[in-house]
Amino acid sequence: MSLDLSSVIRTIPDYPKPGIMFRDVTTLMGHPQAFSQVIGDLMAGYAGRSIDKVAGMEARGFIFGAPVAERLTAGFVPIRKKGKLPHKVASETYQLEYGEDVLEMHLDAVEPGERVLIIDDLIATGGTAEAAIRLLEKAGAEIIAAAFVIDLPELGGADRIRRMGIEVSSLVS
Ligand code: IMP
Repeated sequence: MSLDLSSVIRTIPDYPKPGIMFRDVTTLMGHPQAFSQVIGDLMAGYAGRSIDKVAGMEARGFIFGAPVAERLTAGFVPIRKKGKLPHKVASETYQLEYGEDVLEMHLDAVEPGERVLIIDDLIATGGTAEAAIRLLEKAGAEIIAAAFVIDLPELGGADRIRRMGIEVSSLVS
């Protein structure tokens, strides 16, 4: 029997600031059946589609992306916050609600033409995912899809990424 994932995602009101309902996936990660179900469901949509690399965004994208990569027999590409990667990087600045942030990826993390699946825990406005897509495109990757555990559809991120011509899927809305 599959679990209702929304029952194992904790909601923290007013975090990190007043008015925000933060979806806390640490409760899901700590639940063996839920964690296994999520990894299985994320990979199931892409099994047999010849994925060379899974790219995950720091930090929760690593936790969900790495086991999916292993199950798809793909490599894993960490997309990190500024200043964390030791070799030559591509950088992308993206807008936050207040201010901006920078994501980086090793330039040689993907070969031109490699087929990449992007994974993160949650898509809200889509700014993070769009920055990841731009980084991967700079390196010449072919982006097959972006998959998320949670989509917050009222924030429009999934539609924003679909408008870039990229397939988007999620497990919980
Ligand atoms: P976006 O760039 O607005 O789509 O925000 C998505 C990014 O912010 C992802 O990397 C998420 O990990 C993080 N994020 C935003 N809201 C939440 C939340 O409620 N719970 C967990 N992560 C969140």
